[in-house]
Amino acid sequence: MGPCDFSFAYNLVKLLPNLKVLSLRCSTISKEALIFILDKLPNLEVLNISHCLLIPPPPAPRKALKEIDGFILEKASRLREFLTCIDDSCVMCQRARSDEGLMRWYRYEEGLWKTDEVRSLAL
Ligand SMILES: [Zn+2]
Repeated sequence: MGPCDFSFAYNLVKLLPNLKVLSLRCSTISKEALIFILDKLPNLEVLNISHCLLIPPPPAPRKALKEIDGFILEKASRLREFLTCIDDSCVMCQRARSDEGLMRWYRYEEGLWKTDEVRSLAL
């Protein structure tokens, strides 16, 4: 999947306002898009942003954040599950970075895309 920027988040909220489970795993997400999703999808129960490149809003440099800040954690605290991983020693985080947030799944082991995916999505 392509990057989750504000326009993607806006369309997601507009077209799927009752969404309950969302995985953006291994994508690039802008911080403002993530906040918008957390604010505007009131029925969201499960969100997976593991191994994502979380990009700060301008004018900050477009460099992936090293941790999820308290502001986002506070907003996400209402979720039943909030799956995250930002860890330099994580192989999937390393791959997401080397693929610049647009995973080239064909390079990797078969079935890898669902190894730590939200259970209801990893069919
Ligand atoms: Zn990771």
